[in-house]
Amino acid sequence: MLEPLAIECPYCGEGFETLFDSSEGGFGDRAVVTIEDCYVCCRPITLRHHLDASGERLSTDALRDSDG
Ligand SMILES: [Zn+2]
Repeated sequence: MLEPLAIECPYCGEGFETLFDSSEGGFGDRAVVTIEDCYVCCRPITLRHHLDASGERLSTDALRDSDG
């Protein structure tokens, strides 16, 4: 299921909306990482989605590639 997700580019600071496919998340209390290219500066943003035990998304961090 696709969920609209507002994120902010960690490189250029531009805010935009993307879609999070919650079926990617699977189950368990863990983080799912996806890569989204910023539509403004085209740099790859690492999105770390924190999920609860039922696979529900709790929050998302937008990180630079090198932030680990
Ligand atoms: Zn950007």
